[in-house]
Amino acid sequence: KQWGGTRKIRLLDCHGHGGHSHVPAVHGFGDHGSRMAHGFMPAFHGQFSPRADQMIDLTQQPKKRSDMDDSSSWDIVKATQFGILDRCKELVEAGYDVRQPDKENVSLLHWAAINNHAEVVKYYISKGAVIDQLGGDLNSTPLHWAIRQGHLAMVIQLLRYGADPSVADGEGYRSLHLAILFQHMPIAAYLMAKGQEVDLPDSNGQTPLMLAAQKIIGYVSLKVMCNASVSAVDKVNRNSPLHCAVLAGNVDAAHILLEAGASVDAENANGHSPIDLAHQVHSPLLVHMLNHVKQERIRSKSRCQRLVNRYRVCVQFMFCVAVLGSVGAIADLSSESWLLKGVLLACVMAVVNLAQRQLASPALQSLVPATTLMASVFWMLVTWCLCFLATVQVLFTFNATALLYYYLRSCRTDPGIVKATEEEKKLNVVLLAEAGCLDPRIFCTSCMMKKPMRASHCFSCDACVAKQDHHSVWINGCIGARNHHFFVLFLLYLCLMGAWMFYGCLTYWSKHCPLHYQEEGVWAAISALVGCSSWVLGVFCLAFFHTAWASILLVIQLYQIAFYGLTNAEMSNLMLRQRKLPQSISLRQNPYNLGVVRNLVSFFQLRCCGLFKPATVDWTQQYPPGRDHMFGQPDIV
Ligand SMILES: [Zn+2]
Ligand SMILES: [Zn+2]
Repeated sequence: KQWGGTRKIRLLDCHGHGGHSHVPAVHGFGDHGSRMAHGFMPAFHGQFSPRADQMIDLTQQPKKRSDMDDSSSWDIVKATQFGILDRCKELVEAGYDVRQPDKENVSLLHWAAINNHAEVVKYYISKGAVIDQLGGDLNSTPLHWAIRQGHLAMVIQLLRYGADPSVADGEGYRSLHLAILFQHMPIAAYLMAKGQEVDLPDSNGQTPLMLAAQKIIGYVSLKVMCNASVSAVDKVNRNSPLHCAVLAGNVDAAHILLEAGASVDAENANGHSPIDLAHQVHSPLLVHMLNHVKQERIRSKSRCQRLVNRYRVCVQFMFCVAVLGSVGAIADLSSESWLLKGVLLACVMAVVNLAQRQLASPALQSLVPATTLMASVFWMLVTWCLCFLATVQVLFTFNATALLYYYLRSCRTDPGIVKATEEEKKLNVVLLAEAGCLDPRIFCTSCMMKKPMRASHCFSCDACVAKQDHHSVWINGCIGARNHHFFVLFLLYLCLMGAWMFYGCLTYWSKHCPLHYQEEGVWAAISALVGCSSWVLGVFCLAFFHTAWASILLVIQLYQIAFYGLTNAEMSNLMLRQRKLPQSISLRQNPYNLGVVRNLVSFFQLRCCGLFKPATVDWTQQYPPGRDHMFGQPDIV
């Protein structure tokens, strides 16, 4: 499929030339384009299409049908615009010089390039057309024209014939700048992969990143330009990319630039920092964001913060253990005074609040669920040893060891992150673009990589993960091809651990707290339990909470694995798609479902001394055979 094809189809519909294949997508670009290109700022894309339609309207409507059919009388410019190769050949052979520009100073190669006529371009090049000929009001090359229209295939073809992407047009924009301005990200990715320098400034000293930062509409994959310099400044106003993003009110771009380390204090020629500009454009969100980042950066320089960040898992775990332990101890205090307990609890709350304000960073906050889970397990084990040790021990010890083992394996095993070096990524972009497959379903624009089958991009881990199931907050990482079975086993042992704790608590209560449930009612029973041991009741509640989520998750996971052979991500994706279809389809008829037994055998890699043969597939290396992704077409499933 060629870029811009949809517009062509729409034009055919609108103007009733359904039977004709030679209606040009853009006819008079030279004169109209120059006026519009000055107003490239956000509104550009919205304005272009209707105006292009009007142009076609004006030029095409008065023409008669017979006139359209008879191309043998056309001049060479028109024949080129409509891609009539035979007529072009006829005229060139009759003595027309392909280098001769028309009255608007536009060469034939320009017209062929902007209308995406590959064969005509090939013919003109063979006849000696100058590839980097400057022409039109904007003094641009045919390559510039093809980029403005988003014809990736034409860009590839022109580069093959030796077009120079670093040539600047009359406004000072180079090829990469134009691709960014007109938001043709696949072309931008291709140019960068082909070795176009990402920081090459235009004649005003603006780098492509600055232009990208100003864009408000459309999706701008700034990540693509991640390796570009965030501290470069332009010649006129000495604005950095962050200044540009703030001026354009582009919050998303500002966020990405800040994460990439853009300075919040850098001053432009007028002495304004991005924060000053955010005040000027009256954007409270940007002001808040910039101030927050500024404070966080000041704090992160302190020694204490650096130590905390370095040993953050240990620190956070100890902190959670201390908080849970002290809350339990306060509740369990032998004192009868509720006032004392209340004051102590308030003190713990104050400490938590203070620590959160002083030391919390996003990296630490994302660890909270995982460390809370481990702190709970820690206190469950301690309670078992101190209070319930009289009961069965061997099985419990086995359960606890297995739980910790599978938890560590889930966290420490690489879930199947798809890796590629810079060179491989560039090569991939070039190969995919040239094969016409730079398609978001098989290409990840964040990683600049071809996605393997069943892989998805995780924004928390900032990587593509093979056979990704979901991003788990409980292990603070992704569940994918390589650690999914460890995670399911961890869930299983966590549920069993919960069962052991219930058993321990009930035995403890039956021994130490004589209950008269039937006589006194539920409320009296609960107050008796609190009076007997608040600590044990607290541990019971913790165990109940963790068993509840773990058992629900375990049932869902096993159901999906056994009956569908699909991951959580695929299931939700397909269910969403199914809702849009008129007739219902069975999700069980998918290519990955091998039947209940074989699904489970393959998932857990059960061999049972050669009794079963599980399927072993390395999902980081499986790529779809052609351009059609298995899940890209709803009718297959
Ligand atoms: Zn990715
Ligand atoms: Zn993740």
